Order: sequence, then structure tokens, then C-alpha cells
Amino acid sequence: MMFLARIVRFLFWLFVVSWSVWLLRRIFGSLLQNAASSSQRGENGTGSSQTSKAARRLVRDPVCGMHVDETLSIPMREGDELLHFCSIACRDAYVVSSKKFAAHG
Ligand SMILES: [Zn+2]
Repeated sequence: MMFLARIVRFLFWLFVVSWSVWLLRRIFGSLLQNAASSSQRGENGTGSSQTSKAARRLVRDPVCGMHVDETLSIPMREGDELLHFCSIACRDAYVVSSKKFAAHG
């Protein structure tokens, strides 16, 4: 009977140890997942990827019709809208033409 009691005790401790290990792994796993998700959320929150995407937006030059990268274009505020030109020459041409129209109008 002593032999059987030892086996039962061994199995009991084996169960307790394996259960505690499983519990710890579960707790640490959820903690790690939380940390990972929060860090991912932080990366998204900075919006660095979004800004780089927005910076690569193409804008159309209203004078020559060329599509220019917004970061490389020459911006000009015309009333409420922001216009983008491929070069200063195009911007000057637009200013001259708009002035002409204004003079005629
Ligand atoms: Zn142009």
C-alpha cells in the first residue's frame, strides 16, 4: 500500500506543478499579448506610416496638367483651395492667367 500511496502523491504533485505552469504560461502569455498589442497600437498612434503615405500623394498641376508629388510641388493658396504646381514657371503662368481673367472679368 505504501507504494500505491507514493504513486498517488507523485501524480498529485505532477498535476499541481503542471497546472501551475499552465496557469503561469497563460498569465504571462496574456501579459505579453497585451504588451505586443499596446506597442502595435502605439506605432499606429504615431501615424508615421500614414504621414509617409500622405506625403506620397500625387497632385495635379492645373496649368500643364502634370501629376507631381505633393512634397515636391510648389503650393499656392487660391481662396479656400490649395493649388500645387510642378514648377515656379507654372505657378507664375497661373497667377498671370488668373490676373488676366480678373482684369477681363
Ligand atoms: Zn506644370
